[in-house]
Parts: sequence; structure tokens; C-alpha cells
Amino acid sequence: VKTRGGRRWSAFDAELRAENERRHTLEAELRRAIPAGEIEPWFQPVVDASSGRFVGVEVLARWNHPEQGLLAPAAFVPIAEELGIIGRIDEAVFEAACARAAPWVAAGLIESISCNVSPRDLLDPAFSRKLIGRLARTALPATALTVEITETFLLQDLGLARRHIERLAAKGVRIALDDFGTGYSNVRALMNLPIQTVKLDRSLIEAVGRDARVSKLVSSMLHAARALGVGIVAEGVEEEAQALFLRAAGCDRMQGYLFARPMPAEAMERQLREGLSL
Ligand code: C2E
Ligand code: CA
Ligand code: CA
Ligand code: CA
Repeated sequence: VKTRGGRRWSAFDAELRAENERRHTLEAELRRAIPAGEIEPWFQPVVDASSGRFVGVEVLARWNHPEQGLLAPAAFVPIAEELGIIGRIDEAVFEAACARAAPWVAAGLIESISCNVSPRDLLDPAFSRKLIGRLARTALPATALTVEITETFLLQDLGLARRHIERLAAKGVRIALDDFGTGYSNVRALMNLPIQTVKLDRSLIEAVGRDARVSKLVSSMLHAARALGVGIVAEGVEEEAQALFLRAAGCDRMQGYLFARPMPAEAMERQLREGLSL
């Protein structure tokens, strides 16, 4: 019994060591990848529910890893957050995204671009000031930028959140509350902060049309948003039936595989130009 336990323990130990090594490698690679420009913006269109037209894009980071190929944020965002370098990724992605998408806005192909920021970024008291400075050096008008924040952050430090949000709002930058419906869904924060948009999480949209109670909940959320003058984007719309339900319930905007998957800048630009000529 003793030896078996010991063996089991050492197998566990070896696994831990291997895991540690993987993390160290990833960490070193990530630190190199940011200045090397390996992390780039991809784009997913946001669709106007009534006309079906693309009205905006959400910027989603992808890591073009030299050996592993294309990596989604789940493979590197959490570790970058732990290492305290997510801010550098968000800056790099923001700058590259503005360079690619500012011409789309200028040409009237879309109204706005949305960028994700980590709750970690927002804990930096200088975050909003730095973002406004960076934005001023791009060709994108402040009113064409939406910053997507999550509720986690509102719960962490509401005072700091308010300062950042009000500073950005004063410049005309729009704020969207991401992943709404997954956490506390702090409706009071919505009433007290200049937040223009709420993004209904995919987990809710998934159950729409299947689960009568979720459908009712989503309808009443859409109703409440209208009453508060807040726009809604439904995320992760994959099926026609979901889109039909959402449109009937008065949803403004949708995003999801039903319309388009995230894609590189060149493909996005092609689709936007084709859409215009239809
Ligand atoms: P998110 O902001 O909630 O982004 C939506 C995610 O849902 C994206 O995953 C998108 O590809 C995926 N998605 C869109 N439509 C559908 C659909 O119809 N079905 C399904 N199953 N999924 C759909 P992605 O690109 O893997 O990004 C995951 C998360 O990583 C994002 O969630 C966001 O929180 C974070 N993220 C992405 N880019 C950045 C970034 O530049 N900086 C930071 N800090 N976080 C980022
Ligand atoms: Ca988002
Ligand atoms: Ca989301
Ligand atoms: Ca998210």
C-alpha cells in the first residue's frame, strides 16, 4: 500500500513539474510574441437585427504562434492576466485594430469598433487616460470606439470603474457591458453609469427558444433595456430560430456564427465591401 501510494505521488509530482515547464515555456514565448507582433486582431461583425446589415465589428485577439498555429484567447489571455502583461496585449491589439478598422469607419462601411479590455487593465488608475492618449494617435474618432468591460470589474472597485467610464464617456467613447446575464447582472450599475450597450451572454442565447423560462427572462431583459435606453447586442447567435425570437422580442443587434465567425482583417474588409455593393 505504501509503495503504491508513493508511486502515485511521484507520478503526480512529475505531472506537476511538466505542467510547470509548459507554463514557463508559454510565458517566455508570450513575452517575445507581443513585441514580435504575433498577436493580432481578428474581427467579428455585429449585425443590425432589422436590416441584417453589418454595423460594427468586435475585435478578438488571436496569437499566430510560430509552431502551434493560431491560438484563441483562452490559450493565452488567462496566463497573460496572471503575469500582469495582459495590458500590453490589449494595447498592441487595440493599436493594430484601429489601424485596420479606422478606414472602414471613415468609408462608412461600419459605424464603430468594439475592443475588449481585461478587468486587470481597469485596475490601473491611469488606464482611461492612457487609452484616450492612444486613441488620439489613431485615425479613429472617439465616438466610433466601444470599450467592452465585464461586470467582474464593476464589482471589484466601483469607484475606480466610475472614474474610468466617466472619463471615457466625456470623450465620446462608448461603453458596453460584456457577458451580461452570467454574473450578478448589476442593473443598478447600469442606471448610474453612462453605459450605452449591454451584451447578452451566449449562455442565455443558447437556451432561447429551448427553455421557456430563459426565453421569458431574455424578453424581459430586452424590455428593461429599452425602458432604460440601453442598447442590446445578443452574442453567440448560432441558429435562425434564435435570431427570429430575438428580433421579435425587440433586440437591436446580434453577433454570432449564424452571421459570421471571427476572421482576419483582409477577409473582414472584403466582406464589408461586398456587403456594400449588394
Ligand atoms: P467575448 O468578449 O465574450 O467574445 C465572444 C467570444 O465568443 C469570442 O471567442 C467569439 O469568437 C465567440 N463567439 C462569437 N460568436 C459565437 C457563436 O455564435 N458561437 C460560439 N460558440 N462562440 C461565438 P474568442 O475569440 O475565443 O474570445 C474569448 C474571450 O477572450 C472573449 O470573450 C474576451 O473575453 C477575451 N478576449 C478576446 N480578445 C481579447 C483581447 O484583445 N483582450 C482581452 N483582454 N480579452 C480578449
Ligand atoms: Ca467582448
Ligand atoms: Ca461576451
Ligand atoms: Ca468575456
